[in-house]
Amino acid sequence: MKLQIEGINAAMAGELRRIMISEIPTMAIEWVDFHANDSILWDEIIAHRLGLIPLTFDPNFFNFKDECQCEGKGCTKCQVAFALKRTGPGMVYSGDLKTTDDRVKPVFDKIPIVELMEGQELELEAFAELGIGRKHAKWQGAVVGYKVDGDKYIFNIESVCGLKPEQVFTQALKVLNEKLEDFTKDVERIK
Ligand SMILES: [Zn+2]
Repeated sequence: MKLQIEGINAAMAGELRRIMISEIPTMAIEWVDFHANDSILWDEIIAHRLGLIPLTFDPNFFNFKDECQCEGKGCTKCQVAFALKRTGPGMVYSGDLKTTDDRVKPVFDKIPIVELMEGQELELEAFAELGIGRKHAKWQGAVVGYKVDGDKYIFNIESVCGLKPEQVFTQALKVLNEKLEDFTKDVERIK
């Protein structure tokens, strides 16, 4: 998405860019329980690949796990489970992940995970949760750059998560507002 903003300065443009990249909450797989893995790849490598699959989600429904009313135990408001079970031969794709919540599923079905040879099995359970790109790149929201044309800032926003670029931008504004509210509270406490 291309977006033109007038009346802001370089500090504001830089802050918006940073928030879109690394501070908006997005959904990614964080935990994987392996029941069987006869593939050529180690569990850790498959778990890492699963983490990098962008997932769709409703940004207004889910909570951060550590801020949820379940107190981090994991519930339907902060965690989504997937099941995967395949026997070779054949390539295992992102689309083989079966979700327990239709709002949360891979953005693309044809992302390769690992190839299984004849008779090899892969069976696992995976759990996705919200996070931010500053903690791990798998939660990165977007690739964002901007150029300055006179007094205008022209942003180029490419989403790399399950949100549309316009949602990436509106979520970034929400995060910026929250940061300003926190800052205001801190200043009031000094008074
Ligand atoms: Zn919860």
